[in-house]
Amino acid sequence: MVYKHIKVPSSGSPITFSNGKINVPDKPIVMFIEGDGTGADIWGASKAVFDAAVQKIYGGNKEVAWMEIYAGEKSLDVYGENQWLPDETIEAIKEFKVAIKGPLTTPVGGGIRSLNVSLRQILDLYACVRPVKYYTGVPSPMKHPELLDIILFRENTEDVYAGIEFKDGSPEAEDLINYINTKFKKNIRPNSGIGIKPMSEFGSARLVKKAIEYAIANNKKSVTLVHKGNIMKFTEGSFKEWGYKVAAQEFGDKTITEDEVFKNHNGIVPEGKIVIKDRIADSMFQQLLLRPAEYEVLATPNLNGDYLSDAAAAQVGGLGIAPGANISYEVAIFEATHGTAPKYAGLNKINPGSVILSGVMMFEFMGWNDVSKSIESAIQKTIASKTVTYDFARLMDGATEVGTREFAQAIIKNL
Ligand code: NAP
Repeated sequence: MVYKHIKVPSSGSPITFSNGKINVPDKPIVMFIEGDGTGADIWGASKAVFDAAVQKIYGGNKEVAWMEIYAGEKSLDVYGENQWLPDETIEAIKEFKVAIKGPLTTPVGGGIRSLNVSLRQILDLYACVRPVKYYTGVPSPMKHPELLDIILFRENTEDVYAGIEFKDGSPEAEDLINYINTKFKKNIRPNSGIGIKPMSEFGSARLVKKAIEYAIANNKKSVTLVHKGNIMKFTEGSFKEWGYKVAAQEFGDKTITEDEVFKNHNGIVPEGKIVIKDRIADSMFQQLLLRPAEYEVLATPNLNGDYLSDAAAAQVGGLGIAPGANISYEVAIFEATHGTAPKYAGLNKINPGSVILSGVMMFEFMGWNDVSKSIESAIQKTIASKTVTYDFARLMDGATEVGTREFAQAIIKNL
């Protein structure tokens, strides 16, 4: 495809997929969206770490051909008024498959509610993947933050995030209220706002399947389905049922339910089996605080996953270093989970850890595992040596506070 403003690097080749498997050339084209607010500070620092790590591991035999694509405020400068998410950005992501992004401002007013939600829906990025684990030295409110080491798979396209909502008093809301009250003999109050919570077997099962595949590939002991099915039986409750069903139908030889473990195996998990269990969402918040070591992979509907991933990130030190990815069958966008923190824009102050650790996930996705490991251990070493940005420095004794760029340089030294 010919692009108007996107410059495809002539030195690189596209990442492709065949039979669901990723093929990464030695000079893959990887897209980036710089992000708004502090995005430029964070991206510059992160890119320096990525390039240094790739150079260190492959000594010039492999390198990333970075390609800038646009969304958010920078896109308005390049494409003009109201072009928050240009069509060619979407086309490029479909063609080149793997992207990493900084945070984006949510436009106030106008047609697009959130660029992140739009990207997820347009590209059907059905799994939001967020690993949450502790890095020694990060200030945390917990006594034993190191006991939490989970990866959360959140359904990304359905549930109340589907965006089907009608304002109180609108003709649509009134129509729906009349219909439901008359047809189904319900009693919704007049002047209620109405939101629809669609959850399908297709959407739930493919998400749970992805979580189980991850558990198998990474030798995890359990996958927990987190739902509020005691109250919302035919959405959240069905999520649980569909989750157990896909586990039994597609991974019957590798999984076992928690019920079976207790009924047939005296509570001892048979060798080589992954336990599929479920927890009610509210109890799951307690479980992560009180018994974190009992959980490894979580599969959740959209809203539960949103709440739970932020709460879990807080246990290990907050959003400043929480990475994430939005993944479909052949497209993956890795992203900072925090916002644009606009008051720090251009000040070389903010913590780039979230984008750097999203890069760790990205290189793993590309099969460049040595690069991932090298970056992760370097960031770990840097934090453990108490060389940190302001957000950690203010909570640590004896820390050396450095700026965004200097933090990245310290990581590079530790590669
Ligand atoms: P925010 O940008 O995440 O910032 C809130 C506060 O969190 C900051 O003031 C700062 O706290 C702390 N923080 C965030 N990122 C940090 C980092 N990298 N290092 C250190 N501290 C960090 O949230 P917001 O102010 O609510 O949102 C601003 C804009 O971002 C909005 O337009 C929102 O829609 C958008 N947003 C985008 C995404 C995304 O693109 N994924 C996600 C969320 C929000 P202190 O001031 O206390 O140090």
